[in-house]
Amino acid sequence: MEQRFVVEGQIALNKLSRVQDYLCGDSGAVTIHLSFGKDLQGIQTIIGSLDAKVFMQCQRCLKPVALAVSVVVNIGVGYKESALKALPTEYDPLLQETPELDLWMLIEDELILGLPIVAYHPSGECSIDAQYQRGDADASDKQATNPFSVLAVMKGEDDQIS
Ligand SMILES: [Zn+2]
Repeated sequence: MEQRFVVEGQIALNKLSRVQDYLCGDSGAVTIHLSFGKDLQGIQTIIGSLDAKVFMQCQRCLKPVALAVSVVVNIGVGYKESALKALPTEYDPLLQETPELDLWMLIEDELILGLPIVAYHPSGECSIDAQYQRGDADASDKQATNPFSVLAVMKGEDDQIS
């Protein structure tokens, strides 16, 4: 079997400037495990995972919410558009125009793709929930109620920190 080249380690999130645009707070790190090599069909692949605990802004209360982000990386590399089209569908296609892979950019891209589009506190942990629990919402609170708040609660349950 062909030898694969493995990259493992951690990168501080504050070094990933493009990822920072999506986060609030720059603490934490992403744990990387990526393996580079060819599969049995000779396709260059990048396989592994990125795991990070990040803070994003809760879209209900606008305070930071901690999220565990886990990205499965399963990339097939093509050096031409035609090669990309021929890749088996199990791979996420990556067009690579130069022999040198920009690993840094790849990690940023994959991590950004793995972030939720919007983040919410899990139900019961959002400070907006707490306000509603304290008493009757007055008129201004009602106006502020987002029509998607029910969705937000459901979404929040998926975002529990592991
Ligand atoms: Zn919140």
